Amino acid sequence: MKNSLLSQRDLAVLWHPCTQMHDHETQPLIPIKSGRGVWLEDFEGNHYLDAISSWWVNLFGHANPIINAALKAQLDNLEHVIFAGFTHEAAIELAEKLVAITPAGLSRCFYADNGSAAVEVALKMSFHFWQNRNQPRKNKFITLENSYHGETLGALAVGDVALYKKTYAPLLMNVITAPSPDCYFREDGESWADYSTRQFAHLERLLQENADEVCAIIVEPLVQCAGGMRMYDAIYLKLLREACDQYNVHLIADEIAVGFGRTGTLFACEQAGISPDFLCLSKGLTGGYLPLSAVLTTNDIYAAFYDDYSKMTAFLHSHSYTGNALACRAALATLGIFETQNVLANNQVLAATMKTLSQRFLNHPNVAEVRQTGMIVAIELVKNKRTREAYPWQERRGLQVYRYALSKGVLLRPLGNVIYFMPPYVITSEELALMFDVAWQAITT
Ligand code: PMP
Repeated sequence: MKNSLLSQRDLAVLWHPCTQMHDHETQPLIPIKSGRGVWLEDFEGNHYLDAISSWWVNLFGHANPIINAALKAQLDNLEHVIFAGFTHEAAIELAEKLVAITPAGLSRCFYADNGSAAVEVALKMSFHFWQNRNQPRKNKFITLENSYHGETLGALAVGDVALYKKTYAPLLMNVITAPSPDCYFREDGESWADYSTRQFAHLERLLQENADEVCAIIVEPLVQCAGGMRMYDAIYLKLLREACDQYNVHLIADEIAVGFGRTGTLFACEQAGISPDFLCLSKGLTGGYLPLSAVLTTNDIYAAFYDDYSKMTAFLHSHSYTGNALACRAALATLGIFETQNVLANNQVLAATMKTLSQRFLNHPNVAEVRQTGMIVAIELVKNKRTREAYPWQERRGLQVYRYALSKGVLLRPLGNVIYFMPPYVITSEELALMFDVAWQAITT
């Protein structure tokens, strides 16, 4: 079957995510027949290097033999079972593993089925905790400028990317938004740590003024991904943890995008030596195979819900596919790869190669910044290097890069004017070189 025939059938009935469907009048849709490692193949034999891990989910390649085998075995026993009143081995083993590998103090695991749902769970649990602890005035959340936490209404409300949020503003709860520690805005010569520390003062002031009414602060540790892969120093998280303790406010770490090795450590919070009160995980959790998310939290929070039924303190939140057995099995296979294959050490080598390959972009006349945290590299395109004047969004520079890269067999999907690389960990140094070369050509030719 040809690409074009499938595209035609698709465009007759489907509505794709995060897409102005009208674009497909000129931009062909790409039907994928199969995937192997970092490569995707369409129906005409074209190959595409998945440089963005299919929206940041894939860790160990498409059609990974280890995950495939685990799923096939699980499939013959149990695909899914209601998770209220019932349980199963894969869900239990996965929760045990997550409790063991996440920062200290996180001892309870609540499952949901996508990242946004995990954020909703964390927000509701935090609010509900304070209700159960007789602090009903605590009903607000603090969030960071330019943050992103998902698309459902609660998650959207605590995010701050106007492109996704503005239209729905009348539907969203009010939040308190703190200036971001985003180091793109640091002064010339100022270190990331100094700038992030300086920016923390704003948040501290907001806490001083509002702590009585604040349930939690939600952050994306180290990298604001959907906000353009903007990065900040771990010192900010350390200061944040101290302040949350001091002001009696929960800390929600949304590691949906940055968890599982993306920033160099298994979890980004480790770089600050902190434990959040809630840790949201998804995406890489199943190696990019199946939708699953988990919210890890503390005994103290769990205890506030644990009582006689008549006290009505239970967390009555559910999703039909909670704890899906296949998804849990894929997650266990993924964690198994971390356990057996020196992944983080190998990633250090890959990250060093990415650093080397990204250096040539520094002198490009339309690049304002090249930044990196672990396995994430971002290149900020600007109209004017000296003033950092951005390209007008109407020019859709990112889309031009996307189109060019596709024609050369690389899937890049810039965020506005930011080209970024977040490849699966099974990529080779030759494939990394191809990825950076194509990006270079895309902005130079
Ligand atoms: N939080 C962060 C930090 C994310 O990057 C995303 C997805 N890009 C989400 C939450 C939402 O996850 P999902 O798309 O699975 O709902």
